[in-house]
Amino acid sequence: MLDTIRIEGRGPVALALRLLLGREGLPPDAIQADPVDSALPDWLGSRSLALSLGSLHTLARIIPQCAPAALLDQPGIAAPITVVDITRAGASGGTRIEAHRLKLPMLGAVIRYATLHRLLLESVEQVHRPAGNPADQPRSAPTGETLTVIADGDTGDSTSIRIREFGQMALLAEVEVERDRPGWAFERFTSEGPLALLPLPEPRRRALVWCAPNERCHERATADEHRFSESLQQTFGPLLGRLTLCSARHVSAVTRRIGPLTREPGCVAIGNAAQALHPVAGQGLNLGLRDAAVLARQLGDAGSHSLSLAQILAGFEQRRHADRELLVAGTDLLASLTRPELLKPAHAAALQLIDLCTPLRHQIARGLMFGLRSH
Ligand SMILES: Cc1cc2nc3c(=O)[nH]c(=O)nc-3n(C[C@H](O)[C@H](O)[C@H](O)COP(=O)(O)OP(=O)(O)OC[C@H]3O[C@@H](n4cnc5c(N)ncnc54)[C@H](O)[C@@H]3O)c2cc1C
Repeated sequence: MLDTIRIEGRGPVALALRLLLGREGLPPDAIQADPVDSALPDWLGSRSLALSLGSLHTLARIIPQCAPAALLDQPGIAAPITVVDITRAGASGGTRIEAHRLKLPMLGAVIRYATLHRLLLESVEQVHRPAGNPADQPRSAPTGETLTVIADGDTGDSTSIRIREFGQMALLAEVEVERDRPGWAFERFTSEGPLALLPLPEPRRRALVWCAPNERCHERATADEHRFSESLQQTFGPLLGRLTLCSARHVSAVTRRIGPLTREPGCVAIGNAAQALHPVAGQGLNLGLRDAAVLARQLGDAGSHSLSLAQILAGFEQRRHADRELLVAGTDLLASLTRPELLKPAHAAALQLIDLCTPLRHQIARGLMFGLRSH
């Protein structure tokens, strides 16, 4: 019988799992977790995360402020996305996904990593306040099986990891725009890599994720601020008026790494410890939150079905397989479509096909928002 769940990691997926296990009825003293520091390094805390509507629904179960209706009431936490505008820089052909056409209040929302981390941490502290943090409490020796959940954001170096290099890095920053389109998320495919300008909670402020070959990315990260803003303006175009850099710039690797979900008996990996994706579609954390939600549900159900740990983990792997593989393949495809030799005309044709075919567009949108649901 499963006695203890030990969660390794202190990022959003580890914290979300801890809270979701509570929602599934697991007692706090069955969960052991790493102590979490509220201070985050700036390169991580300032990262902007586009969360899908499915992720907002999952988070709303453990952080009420993340419910879509609450976000509309309290715009300071995250910026709702109502339109995703996908185009090719300097060329025709593109597509647009609009929440109102799908009869949804929003497609998702953009939240800073630090804000999400703080909200999760506050929730964990609230849930565990009466009895204290079980991780800090002496506990009688476990009598049954122990499950170790690795959620530390690191796939490790085992030979079974599937690695793909894109020859790109991502430059992350925030910019001020002269005239905004609230709720619009822009994704431009350039010959160097994808460039995204995402809405942020503050008016006329946007998160920039600009992928390009490594050397070009480093050049941009150290360029004079004025030259940087001009080069961004030239690439993005005049749609939002003048664009001005207004934050520090960070450079992040964009290697795709897919590791095994179960590493050894009694041990499972979730979130970035299981898979790290190219940021082109902003799906890494969405996938990680689905890992956490499915694992929590699986563990919640295990008691009533008297399942062994091996059965629980086999069930988890089976339920995550299709969603994970499909998203990895889709993200890889999007990332490789920016290669110059593929950009024309295949990319234009693909975007036009998606644009012309409304059911396909809506299917892709739903896949990105909710994943392949198996629960
Ligand atoms: C450029 C870029 C843009 C991205 N954009 C999106 C997006 O728009 N949407 C999306 O869904 N995903 C996005 N992702 C992916 C997303 O960031 C990851 O999938 C997500 O953070 C994984 O969470 P995790 O908890 O599994 O691991 P991580 O976030 O990697 O957290 C675990 C690790 O973070 C560090 N850490 C956490 N807390 C602390 C702390 N208190 N002190 C010190 N270190 C700490 C530690 O190294 C820890 O092991 C993006 C990734 C990148 C690189």
